[in-house]
Amino acid sequence: MLTPQQARQRLRRVSSHSIEFAESFDELLKDLLSEGLHFLCVDKISVWLVNDLDKPSQLNCIASTHNQEEFCQSLAIQQYPVYFEQILLGHTVAANNVELDNRTIELKIHNNNCSRALLDTVIYHNGKPHGVVSCESYANHHIWTNEDIVYAESLADSCSRRLMALETLKLQNQLKEMAFVDTLTGLKNRRYFNERVQSAKNSQYRLQTPLSLIMIDLDHFKQVNDEFGHEAGDIVLAQFAKNCLTQLRLEDVLCRYGGEEFIIILPYTTEKQASLLAERLRVSVENMSIQHEHKIIKLTASFGVAEMGLEHTIEETIKRADVAVYKAKDAGRNCVITL
Ligand code: GH3
Ligand code: MG
Ligand code: MG
Repeated sequence: MLTPQQARQRLRRVSSHSIEFAESFDELLKDLLSEGLHFLCVDKISVWLVNDLDKPSQLNCIASTHNQEEFCQSLAIQQYPVYFEQILLGHTVAANNVELDNRTIELKIHNNNCSRALLDTVIYHNGKPHGVVSCESYANHHIWTNEDIVYAESLADSCSRRLMALETLKLQNQLKEMAFVDTLTGLKNRRYFNERVQSAKNSQYRLQTPLSLIMIDLDHFKQVNDEFGHEAGDIVLAQFAKNCLTQLRLEDVLCRYGGEEFIIILPYTTEKQASLLAERLRVSVENMSIQHEHKIIKLTASFGVAEMGLEHTIEETIKRADVAVYKAKDAGRNCVITL
């Protein structure tokens, strides 16, 4: 049996674990809740969050030590005014007997759950009540001690920190995602390409599968800008990207490499297959007619194909694809060269 101090120390230690990835809230909070279950000797612990921090009207269950919730998954605040008044004031509700406590009797009436004793502590977010950690005992004579209450409040604080850490993690991922996207075309950018090509190379090594690159440079694009304006040039770039995307597989990665240069990572693709694809793309670009301010803009592109053999480095292969593009330009543009 742990002393209250040992239990709190254990909780502090568990809650200091960093979170990398959790599929669900259940997983995110599982270790904390099972700590609580253990120390408080209760039958169930669940975590509930308000639907709206500024105007809460409902509490929704997001995690529980029980896989199957016996009672409803959300509580409308309107239906439980006395209980929620306490929670929204940030007060801990420690009811030794749910049926005899005027703060919790309404929960019993509406939900008919089997808990006898209830210890609910508030989870805060930026100083506002964000939800509750609800500890339930089904035993007949459960008396909450001061230590239980202090512990449950620490548990709620730990949940609160975890939820905030998750929010930060999501935000970081969003920012990372944004840093990888080219806003003009919606394609992934060169920074993403550099990371992605490395992971493609790694799995090529593991699976011993072919891997190819296609480098693309739009022909006489400066003329497009000069003749139709920069804005038209932007539209052409976006249309070009859209056109190519429709012809690629899900695992192919088309990136904007620079101004009017693009690159495609083609996993499981030999040089021959990549050349055939490049030729299909070339024809499709040639056949594009982009309408802008009652004018039709036509476009062609030069393609350089290079397979990345197991013995080739990424840099060498990019260089070969780049040289192939130069050769395509030399050969009169609007063609595919494979090196
Ligand atoms: P080449 O066939 O030899 O590739 O000729 P080019 O005119 O395409 O090549 P050059 O490198 O001389 O010019 C590239 C042009 O692409 C110049 C640049 O203004 C234009 N460009 C690059 N990025 C953008 C962009 O985001 N929007 C627009 N509208 N134009 C861009
Ligand atoms: Mg160029
Ligand atoms: Mg060009």
